[in-house]
Amino acid sequence: MSSHTDCLFCKIVAGEIPAKVVYQDEQLLAFHDIAPKAETHLLVIPKRHIENLNDLSHSDAELMSHLMLKLPEIAAQQGLTGFRTITNTGVEGGQEVFHMHFHILGGKRLPGF
Ligand code: 5GP
Ligand code: ZN
Repeated sequence: MSSHTDCLFCKIVAGEIPAKVVYQDEQLLAFHDIAPKAETHLLVIPKRHIENLNDLSHSDAELMSHLMLKLPEIAAQQGLTGFRTITNTGVEGGQEVFHMHFHILGGKRLPGF
């Protein structure tokens, strides 16, 4: 498992920083965002350090389809019937933590985007 010592989310994967984990398997970890921007705000990450969507290659296809298929399952586990998924890519995309993560936002009807 590649772990970047100065990466916040790698530290969460390693258990060095606590997080409210709601789901994990061999490849993925899902936990509550520390500063929720909706009633429910989760982050779903690959355990392996991948910077963002720009860092993907076709060899990650299986991981990415697994992640995408898990998003609605994790949301449903938290009682969400509808939700918003966001992933910010790069500084200009508003990314602040450079370990790829998918936000799941929900809990009550979100305003249109
Ligand atoms: P980004 O702007 O990179 O898409 O989102 C980073 C997210 O990580 C933000 O929503 C922020 O609140 C969250 N975050 C930052 N530090 C921590 C932390 O230490 N623990 C958790 N659980 N979330 C964090
Ligand atoms: Zn990382």
